[in-house]
Parts: sequence; structure tokens; C-alpha cells
Amino acid sequence: MKTRSRLSRIVRSGWSTLQRIGRLSPASVINTIALGAWRVLRIRLSWWVVIGVAAVAVLYRGAWTPIVRDVVIAHYAHARAGPIVPFDPGYSESVVWTPPGAEDLGRWATWGVETNSPWILRYTKLIVPYMAYEGLTSQVVYPDSSIFEPRAGTDSFLNGGYAIVPNLGRIIVSVNDRYVDDMRMNDARSVLSVLVHELVHIQGGDFLARPDEEIRDTKGNVVAWREGTSARLESATEAATQEILAAMCNFGDKLACRSFWMNLEDLARGDLMYRAMKARVPWVYEAWSNLSFRNRDQEIASAKRMRYWNRHWFALMEQLEKYNVRAWSQVRDGICGQPLNTGLTQMITPGRFFILGLDFDDTRLLLGRSGIFLRLWC
Ligand SMILES: [Zn+2]
Repeated sequence: MKTRSRLSRIVRSGWSTLQRIGRLSPASVINTIALGAWRVLRIRLSWWVVIGVAAVAVLYRGAWTPIVRDVVIAHYAHARAGPIVPFDPGYSESVVWTPPGAEDLGRWATWGVETNSPWILRYTKLIVPYMAYEGLTSQVVYPDSSIFEPRAGTDSFLNGGYAIVPNLGRIIVSVNDRYVDDMRMNDARSVLSVLVHELVHIQGGDFLARPDEEIRDTKGNVVAWREGTSARLESATEAATQEILAAMCNFGDKLACRSFWMNLEDLARGDLMYRAMKARVPWVYEAWSNLSFRNRDQEIASAKRMRYWNRHWFALMEQLEKYNVRAWSQVRDGICGQPLNTGLTQMITPGRFFILGLDFDDTRLLLGRSGIFLRLWC
């Protein structure tokens, strides 16, 4: 009886000390402890499930194991990406934008970059230096124009943006303005990832078509690319985008973190969609996506999108192969320690160059435990 009363005294005094220190109500303390315990338990549980599934997948390697890998990564990345980020980039809905009061400075009012949104200008200035910082190039290229722009016809729904690098002339980076004006697509995470993608393109090297890949008309204008060119440069650009977003995230850009996870989810899900389509069971992918990731409105919009793609089946397969299947495989190679060949060079001594390889160190760091999981496929 004596011990019990002493114990209760200790508990009572400990309790009042806790309250005095933290000015916490008993309910909030219980809440914190219970919630903490629940979180730990839940994390433990989910990681045990992941480790268990991975162990089985590695033991019984087969055609199905990459499916397990992509499903796990898609769910994990989806949770980390969080909900959509609606935003207003101050898009002027016109060709150019100038800060108020600086109209007479022309394009120099915006540091020499023609733009129609302060948001896109600010991020262009923030993103380009990472290309050098990450060792993607030794000489960064800035665009002359960095703009939001409407796209004509189906392009408005299908293309995120474009980059133009003429031999001589203005370098243009453009993001589809549907990402701002269309309620269905307004999401800062997507815009940031498109902008990084286009800014990677203009750095040149393997992110652009080589002269021998260009098909020209009699006047010397480029009319097409040789087969495989688009797939080569788009997949490399998309893989590099993932690492640049990781670098921005690790340096403290919270939007870049969300963008990184959203992109990773997209890579894994695109790979799964491609597999489902190839096996002629696209409905399996759609059903899983509806159950796991979409609300009712998104489900209806996605079905709408699929009715278009059903008439353009091969174009969709081609898109997925470039931007998802190949890019995802390059990102995984990067995670396994194999740098991405940039095709860009750095001079060591006059006349001696080496080709830069993009290391995926930031992606590896950001992936943490999920990176260890992915390395089982190295
Ligand atoms: Zn591209």
C-alpha cells in the first residue's frame, strides 16, 4: 500500500512538472503520446510489409517483380507528394509582362529574360544555376524568353511545354498556360517539373538533337528528326529533371520536394500503365488508379482522357515509353550509382575535355529507405 501511494505521488508530481514545463493539458499529453505511438506502429507495420514483399520479390524474381516495385513506389511517392498545389503565378495573359514602374526598361526590367509571369521568371533564375551546381553542364544556358503560352488544338491537352534552341536566335522556354488557367490542371508541382524539364533541354548535349539526327529541307530548315532521337533526348531530359528537383528539394525548396515525389509517382505509374496496355488489360491499371489515387472528379476526368487515347493508342504507348519507361529506367540506374551521360563536356586543360555524367546523389539521399528498397533491383 505504501509503495503504491509513493508511486502515485511520483506520478502526480511528474505529471504536474510536465504540465508546468510544457503548459500542456492532460488530454494533449495523452494525445501526443498516443499519436506518436500510433505513428511509430504504423510506420513499422508498413515497412515490415514493404520489406516482406520485397524479400519475396527478390527470392522469386520473375516478370512480376518490377510490378511489385512500381506499385510500392507509386503508393509511397503519392503519399509524400501530398495534395495538389493550386497557385497563381501572376500570368499576364499576354505576350510580355513588365514590373509596374519599369516599363521603359523593356526586357532589362526582367534581367534580360522576356517573360509574362513573375513566378516563371523567379523560378527560371533559381533553376538554371543548379545545372552547373549539379555538374550537368559546365556552362549554363539561360533562355531569352521564359513564358506561359497557350497551345493550339489537341496540343493544349497533350503537351506540357517546349524548348526552342535555334542555331542563332532566341532561346525560348514555354509552359502550356492550361496549367494555370484550367481548373483541372492548375498545380504548381506540375508547372515546376515542366519548367525544369524545358530548362534542362536548352543546356544542349544529349538533351537536344545532334546535327546528324536532324533531317533538313533544301533551305536548311530542320523538318524532322531521325527515328529514336526524340525518345533518346526526352528520356534523358526527364531523368535529369528528377535529379535537379531532388537537388532543389535538398537545398530547401519545399515545392520542389512535392514536385519530386509527384514526378516519381508518375514515372512508376507510367511504367505500370505501359505494361498493362502491352498486356491488353489497361482496365487493371485504371481500376487500381481509381481505387488508390483518384477522387470521383479525377476519375471522371481520367476516363475522359482515356476516351481520347483509345483512338490514339500507339501515340500513348510512344509517350509512355519515352517519358516513363525509359526515363524511369535511367533514374533507377542513377540510384544504383550509374551517372547519366549528359553529352556535355568540361575542359580539364586546353584541348583536353571529359564528358560530364550526372550523379543522382540527391535523388538517392531523398529516397532514404525507399532507395534501399529500389536498390534490390540494381
Ligand atoms: Zn521534352
